[in-house]
Amino acid sequence: MKTIGIYIHIPFCRSKCDYCDFCSYAGRDELAQDYQNAVIRHVKEFAPRLAGYYVDTVYFGGGTPTHYGASRLIALFDALKSHLKVLRTAEVTLEANPESVDVNELYRLRRAGFNRLSLGVQSLDDITLKRVGRIHTAEEALDAIDRVRESGFDNLSLDLIYGLPGQSREEWAETLNRALRTTPEHISAYGLTIEENTPLWRLRNSQDIPNDDAQADMYLYAADTIADAGYQQYEISNFAMRGKESKHNLKYWRLNEYCGFGCSASSYLGGMRYTYLRDPKEYIKAVNSGAGITIAEETETLTPYENAAEYIMLGMRTNYGVSREEYELVYRGGFAPLEQMLESYIKMGFAQKRDNRYSFTAKGFLLSNRLIGELLDAQAERKFQVGTPWRESDYYGTLFN
Ligand code: SF4
Repeated sequence: MKTIGIYIHIPFCRSKCDYCDFCSYAGRDELAQDYQNAVIRHVKEFAPRLAGYYVDTVYFGGGTPTHYGASRLIALFDALKSHLKVLRTAEVTLEANPESVDVNELYRLRRAGFNRLSLGVQSLDDITLKRVGRIHTAEEALDAIDRVRESGFDNLSLDLIYGLPGQSREEWAETLNRALRTTPEHISAYGLTIEENTPLWRLRNSQDIPNDDAQADMYLYAADTIADAGYQQYEISNFAMRGKESKHNLKYWRLNEYCGFGCSASSYLGGMRYTYLRDPKEYIKAVNSGAGITIAEETETLTPYENAAEYIMLGMRTNYGVSREEYELVYRGGFAPLEQMLESYIKMGFAQKRDNRYSFTAKGFLLSNRLIGELLDAQAERKFQVGTPWRESDYYGTLFN
C-alpha cells in the first residue's frame, strides 16, 4: 500500500505580522468552530479516495495552530485517525508561536500523539521583532522553547528569518547562536521576501532592509555556523540533526503524494495538483454545500514533461539532489544536456556528485534560483530537438494547456 502525507491548514492568528502573506487572519476567531466542523466533514467525505494509502506524516500548519487551541487540534487529529489509516509511527507536526504556547495544552497535545513542534521564533532581538509586527519578545520565545521541552516534545524545529528590516550581520549572528544554544533538532532559516499586499511592501522604501549582498552574506554565515554545530543542510533553507529531517516537507521536495484539508491547502494526488479556496468563510460554505473536490480554486494535471521539470526544480532544492537513472527511468527524458550543465557547476564549486546523484553545494544553494532556471532552459532546449524521448503528446500538453 502507498503512503501519503496529510496537511491541515489552520488560518487563525492572534495578530498579523507585517511581512506575512500566508493565508492567515487575525480577528476572525468567531469562524473557528464552523471551520472545525467543515474540515472534519471534508476529511470524512474525502476519506474513501484515500482508502489505498497509509498516512505516514501529518502536518498542522497555519496560521497559528496553537492559537486555535489544543481541544480542537486533538479533535481534528482524532477525526483523521478514525477516517484514514494513520500509522502509529507517523510524524505529526504542529506549528506554534511563542505567544500561544501553554504548557498544559502542550502536554495534552503530546499525549494525543503530536510528536514534532515547529516554533516561529524568527529573531531573538526585541527591536527587530517589533519592527515586523511580531507580538512576542526574545525572552518569551526562549521561555516557549523551555515549555515545549517540559511538555515532552523531543523533536523541535525553530523558524528563523534573516534580512529583516534594520538587521545587521552581527545581530543575525547573535540570533542564530542563541537559537543554536537551545539545541533544537531542526532549524529552518529563511531569507526575508517582501510580498506585495503586505504592510512591509508598502513600507519597503522607508525601511533599512538588507540588500541582496547582505542577505547572501547572512545566508552563507548561517549555512557554515549551523553545519559547524553538527547539523546537516538537507534543503536550501533547512538543517537537521541526523534523522530529524522533516519527513512531511521532504514529501513536497521529492514529489511524493500529499493531501491537504482546509482553506488554501494544496494537494498532489494521482498526478493532479489542486489548491482549495483561500477565504475560510468561502471554504466553510463550499464544504457545507457538499461541493467536495470542486471547491478547488486552482487545479492542474502535470504532463510527464512538467513532472520532469518539477523533479529538477524540487530535487535540486535538497541535498539528495537528482540522478540520471531516476530522470530517465521515471520521466523518460534525455538527461545529457542537464548532465553537461551539472558537470560545469561542479567545476565552478556550485554542485557535487555523490553516489551518482547531483546536488548543490552551499554556494550553489545561494544561486539556486538562477542555476535551476538554467537547468530548466537546458531541459526545454532538449525537448524541442528532433528525436528526443519525449512523446509528441507531451509537447502539446505543455504548449496549449
Ligand atoms: S504568526 Fe505566522 S501565519 Fe500568523 S501572521 Fe505571523 S507570520 Fe503569518
